[in-house]
Amino acid sequence: KAYPSASKLLLLSTCSGGGLLMYSDSSPSKRTLTADGQEIKKKKVVVLGSGWSGYSFLSHFNNPNYDVQVVSPRNFFLFTPLLPSVTNGTVEARSIVEPIRGLMRKKGFEYTEAECVKIDPSNKKIHCKSKDSTSLKGTTEFDMDYDILVIAVGAKPNTFNTPGVEEHAHFLKEADDALKIRRSVINCFERASLPDLTEEERKKILHFVVVGGGPTGVEFSAELHDFLVEDVAKIYPKVQEFTRITLLEAGDHILNMFDKRITAFAEEKFQRDGIDLKTKSMVVGVTADEISTKERGSGEVVSEPYGMVVWSTGIGSRPVIKDFMQQIGQGQRRVLATDEWLRVEGCDSVYALGDTATINQRRVMEDIAAIFGKADKGETGTLNKKEFKSVVKDICQRYPQVELYLKKKKLRNIANLLKSANGDNTELSIETFKQALSEVDTQMKNLPATAQVASQQGKYLAKCFNKMEKCENKPEGPLRFRGEGRHRFQPFRYRHFGSFAPLGREQTAAELPGDWVSIGHSSQWLWYSVYASKLVSWRTRSLVVSDWVRRFIFGRDSSSI
Ligand code: FAD
Repeated sequence: KAYPSASKLLLLSTCSGGGLLMYSDSSPSKRTLTADGQEIKKKKVVVLGSGWSGYSFLSHFNNPNYDVQVVSPRNFFLFTPLLPSVTNGTVEARSIVEPIRGLMRKKGFEYTEAECVKIDPSNKKIHCKSKDSTSLKGTTEFDMDYDILVIAVGAKPNTFNTPGVEEHAHFLKEADDALKIRRSVINCFERASLPDLTEEERKKILHFVVVGGGPTGVEFSAELHDFLVEDVAKIYPKVQEFTRITLLEAGDHILNMFDKRITAFAEEKFQRDGIDLKTKSMVVGVTADEISTKERGSGEVVSEPYGMVVWSTGIGSRPVIKDFMQQIGQGQRRVLATDEWLRVEGCDSVYALGDTATINQRRVMEDIAAIFGKADKGETGTLNKKEFKSVVKDICQRYPQVELYLKKKKLRNIANLLKSANGDNTELSIETFKQALSEVDTQMKNLPATAQVASQQGKYLAKCFNKMEKCENKPEGPLRFRGEGRHRFQPFRYRHFGSFAPLGREQTAAELPGDWVSIGHSSQWLWYSVYASKLVSWRTRSLVVSDWVRRFIFGRDSSSI
């Protein structure tokens, strides 16, 4: 039974020197009663972020023995897969956001609208900054203690330090970004429609450049093209002939994480649609008027005038995470590393989910080699058939990533991979085994930074917390994995349900489990139904469906409010 929440005590302290006021939320944790009637302190779980992983964690969390506090600068959950549709008005921004206050009330959690600016793992504290400078009597900063920290802050757009990108390009990560793009596109058309402009000036203003041929860049280009063809032609007929969309990609192909058939279809379709697709083209700088690219083959640098640039080339760690990584000895890494139970490596009581972290594969490979060593008992350096079979079973059971990789390579199991390395030998040496696995190591990519992974991780971790006490005495999983440094739970296991790439004009490419590829109008209907079902509430679901219907009947709204 949980006691009603004790009122929060905010201690006022003065920062030395600056005379700034700093609030410290070192309030005593709430209390709960054990089965035998003893009063114990509730552990305080602080969750950073209200995105895919944070929201999924919170909605599945169900253990009254913890006091949950959420800190996020955004008091809503954003359904990012429909964000490109907001940029042209197919869907309204409010239709894809879910306020988190409702969930907080339902679950009895507390929420603070603020950004965590520093994590102090040695003192189990976070330093936060509120958005509203009037809310804390002159100061915007405060501290918060935690017993357990769940980092779900996502990532920021990666500019690769390309000069001028931060200043001149648009990003597509937040609801505000999508609304800014929508306004900016309409403004370009209004500006290009002004009298006394030369043809060259109109062409420049209506040149839309998208950088990055990943799913987001491709989907945005397709949405923009639909808008130009279906709506602009009617609204701005005089300037329509001057519009141009250029999609720049540094690699050889767009959508290179998808099946080759999808890549080829998308490239052909874009060419047919008149989208200027330039692959092997790396952006080296952006100024207020021009974008410069370096061609990979010739090394030639070309500059072109543009009206608007949208940058979508992947993600990087947020500053607060970079600083945290320095503190815990992960400064050399690109992304925060966790183990398979999503615990941050080198840090106590801190978990990380979603785009902000990655499961350390090096550790996985070391573990796999150790499993081999254990089966061999360090004796002969070789495994017989029986030992080998049990090793393969262990590895696949414990490391779904290995299984996933093998499936992608169309190898039925790890035995096939090893067979290809070992030829017809009946015994397998440790060296051959390691050699074969190094192929897995180098080629097996980290889990993709997607909403699918983030929400599954949030759900997994919440379920671990829900059964924390039960598993204390009765750990899960096979006995052989319960050694030192292991967790009492089964490791996180990702299940891939497939991916979509909308290509415009009611056509979508779908790559589904079982190597099933479908492209065209039928997949578009599948896309509509999957995304409508994945929206987190009936409210957002009905709003999005009515937006789609409105767009079919009346077209898109072209006002720049
Ligand atoms: P996010 O969802 O980004 O959430 C991060 C949260 O942390 C936010 O609430 C943010 O406000 C908060 N935060 C940030 N900084 C701090 C801080 N310092 N302190 C506290 N809180 C902080 N994935 C798919 O699977 N399918 C798709 O179709 C798809 N389409 C996409 C389209 C677009 C345009 C984009 C941008 C992404 C898309 N993704 C898609 C990827 C998916 O959105 C991300 O992988 C997912 O959002 C990652 O979840 P997350 O919880 O790690 O981060």
